[in-house]
Amino acid sequence: MLVNVGDLYLGWAADKEIFEKSDHGGVVISLMRFALRERMADVAISIDKKEGSRFDVMLKAVDNPDEIKPVGSLHCVTPGIAKFLREYLDGAENKRVILVAKPCDAKAMIELAKRKQVNIDNVIVIGVNCTGTFRPHDFKKMAREVFGIEPEKVVSEEIEDGKLILKTSDGKQLEKDLRELEERGYGRRENCRRCETPIPKMADLAIGKWGARDKKSFIEVCSTKGAELLKKAIEKGVIFVEKAPEESIKEREEKYRRALEEARYWQRKTIEHLEKMKLEERLEYWTSQFRRCIKCMGCRDSCPLCYCMECMLEAWRGYVKAGELPPDRLFPIMRIAHVADSCVNCGQCEDACMMEIPITSLLFTVNSKIREVFKYEAGMRLEEKPPLISVTDKELKIPDVELKPGVL
Ligand code: SF4
Ligand code: SF4
Ligand code: SF4
Repeated sequence: MLVNVGDLYLGWAADKEIFEKSDHGGVVISLMRFALRERMADVAISIDKKEGSRFDVMLKAVDNPDEIKPVGSLHCVTPGIAKFLREYLDGAENKRVILVAKPCDAKAMIELAKRKQVNIDNVIVIGVNCTGTFRPHDFKKMAREVFGIEPEKVVSEEIEDGKLILKTSDGKQLEKDLRELEERGYGRRENCRRCETPIPKMADLAIGKWGARDKKSFIEVCSTKGAELLKKAIEKGVIFVEKAPEESIKEREEKYRRALEEARYWQRKTIEHLEKMKLEERLEYWTSQFRRCIKCMGCRDSCPLCYCMECMLEAWRGYVKAGELPPDRLFPIMRIAHVADSCVNCGQCEDACMMEIPITSLLFTVNSKIREVFKYEAGMRLEEKPPLISVTDKELKIPDVELKPGVL
């Protein structure tokens, strides 16, 4: 069977047990196990619930296919897969790795590959659709205050057609309008609300439930690596596929269009909130936010793209004074300047910030401007160089290209 880049399928696992135990046909787990068995990868990154909890997971590098277990769709955890790959598997320099990634993880890997921090040729990225994730603490609060249930009773959560749907261990299904929840301050992480990449087309395979039928998964083949893996898995009878019917393709496109519309709504809100302020007020707003900074370095340490061995934020580098709290304004500006062009909007920095500084709003605003000027979208195409290290003389003449405070 020929499998080509751009092909669209509905697929499901041949193994009955995997099919039954999985939410959407078991394609992801079957492909990962298959890649290890067939020696197409040396190691897989497995995701496991910690002590069975939906609110905490562990990442493990495994070479035994049986250690990869179905965990279902988890919306209340955001493991940093790209960071794990770079830090614990040496960026796949000497090992072939297969992993499952949300779109923002896949984008981070592409940005790291551009900086020679990940050997992307050695990585098979199985991308899974993502409509947003929740901070565990916020989700638990919402479950209690809005849904009136104990969070431990939730066995699955889904975001579908603008609704958040929770299923509970006693067989109940509860749903609420997501926009309404988010206007009230509940719901997804703020970066997720603004996210424009629900389908991981930058991965090797993009797998999701949009457009799928009968517990199957919708599969888009996005690279030759993805095509090769899928082809072999089909030939060996590990995965069954059928060409995606026209109505499935249309349904997926329509859901994508609506997700994008929702993201743009939240993007506009972020920008309008800042643009309402005069320039001095905006400066005061950000200064007061960063006045709360306790220099814990959580934002830097959790960011998949902050990898410098000799970080400029360390006091010994001489830019930020030791023992000074809050740190000088240079502190956030330096970090943001370092990652602004390549920020993939993963939200790890904001999750790590115990002072709840809205870091991703600032990054989004700066990044939008960079996107507008350089037509560069972080993490989407391996062949495009990050603009702040490859700026041309012509681009430097575009008004506002210096990203003066007025654009933040
Ligand atoms: S930013 Fe949020 S919605 Fe977008 S891919 Fe990442 S986790 Fe999913
Ligand atoms: S700066 Fe924050 S949102 Fe951007 S890539 Fe780093 S952790 Fe993710
Ligand atoms: S995580 Fe928050 S408090 Fe910690 S250094 Fe970063 S901005 Fe400051």
